[in-house]
Amino acid sequence: MKLGIYGGTFNPPHLGHLAAARFALEALGLDQLVFVPAATPPHKNLPTDSPSPQDRVAMMELAADSLLLPKQVSVSDIELARAGKSYTADTVTQFHQKDPRAELWLLMGTDMFLTLQNWWEPEVITRLAGICTFARAQSDSVEQLERQANYLEQTFGARTRVLQLPEIVEVSSTQLRAMLARGEGQDYLAPAVYGYILRHGLYGLHPDLKHLPDRE
Ligand code: ATP
Repeated sequence: MKLGIYGGTFNPPHLGHLAAARFALEALGLDQLVFVPAATPPHKNLPTDSPSPQDRVAMMELAADSLLLPKQVSVSDIELARAGKSYTADTVTQFHQKDPRAELWLLMGTDMFLTLQNWWEPEVITRLAGICTFARAQSDSVEQLERQANYLEQTFGARTRVLQLPEIVEVSSTQLRAMLARGEGQDYLAPAVYGYILRHGLYGLHPDLKHLPDRE
């Protein structure tokens, strides 16, 4: 059993996350891929008016559904049940304990991959899971990724895979939140996620659709 674990803040989940997940599923030959929204991300401060972790899990579920792979792709709220910061080492440990024979792969974009040695207990993460990374912008340097992969292999004995995504969706959730507040950006979202954002009035939007440009 080969299991991919794709963690993130997913505030909100966007098509960049989904394109990378779809490709990694195939490229790594995963049996299952699970998105794991962080309750309290250790690496970033959430904006004060951010949706709740439960809202981010609900949006991630809708985004995952849009991949139309219900037997392979799921969302875990495992990090919401833990107190304190959502450390990946704890998450990987929990997945390992659930099925010690599963081959775990952690999926992450370049920004995360390049700082992995600074995470909480990188030796635990790399002992229990392989690390699969992919460029999230055209400007990301493949040589830099390969260098980091070598470093992680030599320092922690990490197993790594650097994937070249056929389609890079150059967007971040931060950019998307700014776009949504201007009534833009819905093209970067699964339609059901955009619907959820509207219905729940997230990111400054409101169910009356007054923010949509064609209604102004
Ligand atoms: P923010 O702008 O709020 O920091 P983000 O867009 O970086 O958010 P996260 O939820 O923090 O999104 O990212 C989760 C994971 O998805 C990370 O490993 C990140 O590198 C990766 N990722 C984010 N955006 C993309 C993208 N456009 N293409 C591929 N991977 C991405």
